[in-house]
Amino acid sequence: MFGEPISLGNFFGLHVRVDGTLLIMLLLYAMRGASAGPVGILHGLTFAALVLIAVFLHEYGHAVAGSIFGIGTVEVVLHFFGGYTRYESIPRTPFQEGVMSAAGPATNLALAGTFYLFIQFIIDGGHTSLYPAVPLLDSFQYINLILGLLNLLPGYPLDGGSILRAILSVFIARARARLIVAYIGVAIGFALAALDFPSFSAQVVLGLLLVYIASMEVIAARRSIM
Ligand SMILES: [Zn+2]
Repeated sequence: MFGEPISLGNFFGLHVRVDGTLLIMLLLYAMRGASAGPVGILHGLTFAALVLIAVFLHEYGHAVAGSIFGIGTVEVVLHFFGGYTRYESIPRTPFQEGVMSAAGPATNLALAGTFYLFIQFIIDGGHTSLYPAVPLLDSFQYINLILGLLNLLPGYPLDGGSILRAILSVFIARARARLIVAYIGVAIGFALAALDFPSFSAQVVLGLLLVYIASMEVIAARRSIM
C-alpha cells in the first residue's frame, strides 16, 4: 500500500521487513488509548508492540517448520493484518504444506498456554514482586490465543485454509481443493463482518478485507479449473 516494505534487519536468523500499513495499525492502537491521555497512548502502543511480537513468533514458527523440511525462508514481512513468510521454494508434499501451515498457529497456542501457566504460577505462588507484570503477560497470552485460533479457521488466506487445502488435495484435484478453500474464506469473511456489524469495528473491516482477498482467490481458482 505504501510501496516496498522497509527492512528491519535480521532477527534470530530471519530477514524481517515491515510494510508501511503497520503505521496505520500503530496509529489506530494509539488513538484507541488516547482518551486516557499519554498513559493510554502508551498502553495502546505497548499492546501494538505485543501484537507485532506475537505475529513475528507466528511467522518464526512457519520458518522453523520449513527449515525442518529443508525449505529455507527468504524473509518475513509484517503488515497491518499480520504477516507472511516467503519461502525459498514451495512445499513438496501436502504433508509438508500442512505441517508448515500449522506451525504458525501452533506456536501462538503454545505461547498462550505457557503464559497462562506462568500467570497462574505468579498468582498461586503469591510472587507479589511479579504482580505488576501480570496485565502485560495477560495481554500477550490473550493476543496469542486469538491469533492462534483465528488463523486456524479453515478458509483462504488463513493457515487453517492451507491446512484444509493440503488435506483435501490428497483426495481431490488440487485446483478443486483450492476453490473450496477460497469459497470458505469468503464465507468466513462475511461471518466475521456480520458478527460484529452493528459496532463497525476493526473486525468488520478485517472480515470485509477477507471477503475481498478470498474472492480474488475464487476467481483465480475458477480460472485454473476452466
Ligand atoms: Zn500463518
